[in-house]
Amino acid sequence: MSSEVHPGSPAAPLTILVVDDQNASRVALSAELDRCGHRVLEADSADWALELFRRHRPDLVLLDVEMPGHDGYWAAREMRAAEPGGWTPIIFLSQRDQERDIWQAIEAGGDDYLIKPVLGMVLHAKLRAMHRLAQMRERLVLLSDELRSANAQLHELSTVDGLTGLMNRRALDESLHSELELARREQQPLTLMLCDVDHFKRFNDRQGHVEGDACLRQVAQLLRDTCRRPADRAARYGGEEFALLLPRTPRSGAMTYARALMRLVAQRQILHPDSPVAPHITLSGGITTCVPDASTTAEGLLLRADDALYTAKAQGRNRFFSYEMQMDTEEQRPQLPR
Ligand SMILES: [Mg+2]
Repeated sequence: MSSEVHPGSPAAPLTILVVDDQNASRVALSAELDRCGHRVLEADSADWALELFRRHRPDLVLLDVEMPGHDGYWAAREMRAAEPGGWTPIIFLSQRDQERDIWQAIEAGGDDYLIKPVLGMVLHAKLRAMHRLAQMRERLVLLSDELRSANAQLHELSTVDGLTGLMNRRALDESLHSELELARREQQPLTLMLCDVDHFKRFNDRQGHVEGDACLRQVAQLLRDTCRRPADRAARYGGEEFALLLPRTPRSGAMTYARALMRLVAQRQILHPDSPVAPHITLSGGITTCVPDASTTAEGLLLRADDALYTAKAQGRNRFFSYEMQMDTEEQRPQLPR
């Protein structure tokens, strides 16, 4: 082998396992690698090679094909099996240069193939190439880890409202569809409420957007606090509009829930000096409750809740109106059905 310095050799020394039953060629190869600063492990049989591989986890394996007992193909397969998910480059060494050997070498888990006697220049070129591949693989593994966590973050971003931490509209839509299905299967009542902060534009105009955002966060917290059962969900529906999804909640229960929510809002006393309704923040809400049948759709529920919300506003705000009961939280008797 040539003894010139190969500037392209990997800067970091590698641990290289050299496997060859012929002493002369193994020693020559090892000497060349050692001269370049690599740490060399030597084996003269496939079994010993496997033992060293397991024990030392080399960065690279140079593996003779023909050996007494187990051959190089066997050793390669065993090495691949010994590092599931891992990948140590394996370069086969052979005196033969037939295409069939190359095919078999790659089949057995080899990455490349060198013809003996190995020329120093070729050997170093292969080492560089393998080193580059190993680095690329490392970067790929890192990259896929990063992608995985970025994906998880993206999913979170796509379902959580950034300002309030509640579910966003998209997540609500998903939940609404699945809860609707569940309620239909179990024949249980499902309640959907849409509510918004009364005269929120005036609040924003007077107090500014920073205070406006703080107000929305407080309302969000209130809604979160009222969701006592695990299946209850609060969502920011958009702007100053919020939604509550309450599985297994009948009409009367929804009214009770809404009254409790309004009491909580009143207790919190978030000041709203420009509101004609009250000196503090108030909510108007629309309620729809049904035991879903085949014709019930999520869109239909949203429309009814929105319709009821409109009625609550028309009747003076600071109240929740039930679409099905045609009454609001301020009155005790049902109105005439539409
Ligand atoms: Mg041999």
